[in-house]
Amino acid sequence: MRLAVLRVFDKTFVVPRGPVHESFNSLLILAEYVFTRSAVANGILSESLVLSHVLGFAAGTYLITPDLDMADRKAVTPLRFWGPLRALWWPYGRAFKHRRLSHTWLLGPATRLAYLMALAALILALAARLKSPLPGLLFRWVGDHPGLVGAWVFGYFNAQWAHLIVDRVLGKPRGRPRATGSRHARVHPRPRGRA
Ligand SMILES: [Zn+2]
Repeated sequence: MRLAVLRVFDKTFVVPRGPVHESFNSLLILAEYVFTRSAVANGILSESLVLSHVLGFAAGTYLITPDLDMADRKAVTPLRFWGPLRALWWPYGRAFKHRRLSHTWLLGPATRLAYLMALAALILALAARLKSPLPGLLFRWVGDHPGLVGAWVFGYFNAQWAHLIVDRVLGKPRGRPRATGSRHARVHPRPRGRA
């Protein structure tokens, strides 16, 4: 399993890389799909509700993750899937410090949704100005399908929580500050008091 060493709050942390998150979340998505089959077959859950939750989970795994807080300085894995639109996340990375507010359970995921909704609002406002039927159709669809929207949002939040759990389980502080990072640094620790 590939891990990265990162200094946060003057401590050295071992943090999981994107592929670790993606693999873990992909397993959860697969497990959810398999384990809900009988509930769907028995009419306890609707297929569309499960699919909407799975899509939200997938979006929160591959496209919108807490690690976008590094989008301004690192080629974090979700940016790969945004292609030419990756620049959209640059301001988010600039505004949020890594593993602070962006990595909290409720507010963190909400900041990314709010950020996306603000971008979407700009596009919809432009579309409305151009007399496009798109905004009207979209708002009508959302109003007609609150359950699907709720399942998507819940799936998205679940993916963020899975990310945070992996970060917390694998992202334990490791060793003494300044003494880790490389073999050379461990063998020759810098004298204290020097920059
Ligand atoms: Zn993270």
